Amino acid sequence: MNLDRTVYYHVVHMGDRSDLTREYERAFRDRWMCTKYWHFLGEPSAIDLYLDHEPHNTPLNTVPLVAGYARIDFLQTIGIDLFREHFYIGRVVNDKGVTCDDFVSFRGKHWLLIRGNERSTYRRCEACGGHLYFPIGDHYLLADRLTDAPLYGCNLGGFIADEEVYKRITNRKWELVEFVELPVLDKPQDGHDDLPL
Ligand SMILES: [Zn+2]
Repeated sequence: MNLDRTVYYHVVHMGDRSDLTREYERAFRDRWMCTKYWHFLGEPSAIDLYLDHEPHNTPLNTVPLVAGYARIDFLQTIGIDLFREHFYIGRVVNDKGVTCDDFVSFRGKHWLLIRGNERSTYRRCEACGGHLYFPIGDHYLLADRLTDAPLYGCNLGGFIADEEVYKRITNRKWELVEFVELPVLDKPQDGHDDLPL
């Protein structure tokens, strides 16, 4: 393996995930999902999350396949302005229709595909042409996909942070947040050399 010196971290929450209200989920599917494999048609924009419960009081959480959300005090350790530079920020609304000011939803303005080994799954969607990829085995990033951005969205929920941001976050201890080191490789290990992601 040809390791670059730079290391990135996949910052991802553990524990319970969140759900949308049924009405909003239906509207979301109509608007944002390709129905062939129920995957996200990822236009970059902010998404407001209408949850069918109070937001989980964790630093980081997610509505699977839709968007992440984070607690403001957690983002303050990164720097709210820096985070806004790299993510589209939306509202988090509870089941009573009240916007929860302690949380925001986020989607990456730019994002990276976390890659895996040769057992990773890949399919081109016949309906929309989208690329469906799921990494198996050790996770890593590809060097030629990186820019100088310190933060990225990614395909596995949470976000990706460079070492400097990682150090800022881990100055404090956070419950239910996991930091997975992502080596940067020159070549894919999954046999998909031409994946345009
Ligand atoms: Zn599709």
